Amino acid sequence: MSGIVGIIAKNDCKETLFYATDYHSHLGTEYGGIAIFDGKKITKKIHSIARAQFKSRFYDDIDFLNMKGYAGIGVISDRDTQPLIIRLKFGEYAICGTGYIENQNILAKRLIAEGTTFSEMYDGRVNQCELVAELINKGKDLIDGIEYMFSQIQGSISFLLLGQEGIYAVRDKYGRTPLVLATRGDDKIVVSETCSFKNLGFETRKFLGPGEILLLTPSRIEQIKKPHNDLRICTFLFVYTGFPASEYEGKNVEEFREESGRFIARRDNVKVDMVAGIADSGTAYAHGYSCESGVPVRIPLLKYTPGWARSYIPPSQQTRDLIALMKQITADALIKNKKIVITEDSIVRGTQLKNFLLVKLWNAGAKEIHVRPACPALMFPCKFLFSTRTLDELFARRILKENLGKHPEDITPYLDPTTKEYKKMLRWMEKDLNVTSLHYQRLEDMIAATGLPGESLCTYCWTGKEKTV
Ligand code: SF4
Repeated sequence: MSGIVGIIAKNDCKETLFYATDYHSHLGTEYGGIAIFDGKKITKKIHSIARAQFKSRFYDDIDFLNMKGYAGIGVISDRDTQPLIIRLKFGEYAICGTGYIENQNILAKRLIAEGTTFSEMYDGRVNQCELVAELINKGKDLIDGIEYMFSQIQGSISFLLLGQEGIYAVRDKYGRTPLVLATRGDDKIVVSETCSFKNLGFETRKFLGPGEILLLTPSRIEQIKKPHNDLRICTFLFVYTGFPASEYEGKNVEEFREESGRFIARRDNVKVDMVAGIADSGTAYAHGYSCESGVPVRIPLLKYTPGWARSYIPPSQQTRDLIALMKQITADALIKNKKIVITEDSIVRGTQLKNFLLVKLWNAGAKEIHVRPACPALMFPCKFLFSTRTLDELFARRILKENLGKHPEDITPYLDPTTKEYKKMLRWMEKDLNVTSLHYQRLEDMIAATGLPGESLCTYCWTGKEKTV
């Protein structure tokens, strides 16, 4: 997932755009980019953030410091270079977006066969923003082009277009990724993450609906296209990806996590000495668990944040594993001979949990370790965002394959916590992780903790169904 920001300011927008974009640093690991319009031309600057944080890349950049203008867009990108400046038949625009277009290679091939040339290519694939722009270019006008683009893509995309007339803010057709409008006096901003509003003095005005298009100009906010009702926002934003101070559809992420921790505790019956969350997101689940059960929350695993900041996520799995090993330090006096519930947002690959965190707790003398992920077992690679891509990457699928000799043809019994197959899968997982017990959050409890109707949530990675109900 990437994080995007668009701003129209009364005066120069650069400083606000810079900080608002920086507050999306938890959403991307590859590129940070900014484009600014001064009334005559759009200028842009992109830096790799694979080895340094967004702030440090832009702070001393003289080109960026010289950029000026009343309108701008910014992005923290998980994959492609963004924003791009594109010349469409409707005018010149800067574009940035968040999402994943599953059929991008098929669409790109078709467009190339029709005579389109793509300027940005990586590893034999096109830049997703350029693909979106070229599809939009097929329309009779900009809005018709956006509709056409949505009719062609499989996956999801929310994006911003900055041009002469202002900023078009376009939320994904099914709203898998959020876009939120806020104002500060005459200044208008639209973002992925509302945590970026708090310290910049913006007040939330509206959560854009699925497929909604707004045009932000210096004098007005115009609704170009009304939203429809078929919302399917990514539930994993609540579970892990989102920053705790952010809100999606009006629900605060930290509040969701505490509520989710309460649900876990209500179904639990282990007698333990403490509950501990794996930082960062696991901590809120531990608080909720503790409030509900009365089990004290303690911090036996301490994260060495001075050297390993949360906002920097290295792109390679190997480096992430190394960092997981290095940054968590045990407080052995809290662990020795203790029975511990560990809350964790999810088990994706399971490598960090198994090889580093649990080993450390056992080595420090833990008596029992009970693991409680705050979402059901991840069973299906996401088709809508750039995250897990293959079955073999997923812990639950690996366990099934290893114990059944192949991926099961019918996964249904392993999705239902009441079946004997599901219970058998849990025992295999406990053995693999080397834990006293493992209980996953129930799907219905996770949904209830969002406070949103189930049908408005995407839960594909747990259910394999495009519609939750
Ligand atoms: S499949 Fe999972 S990660 Fe992907 S959008 Fe849906 S809930 Fe989010």
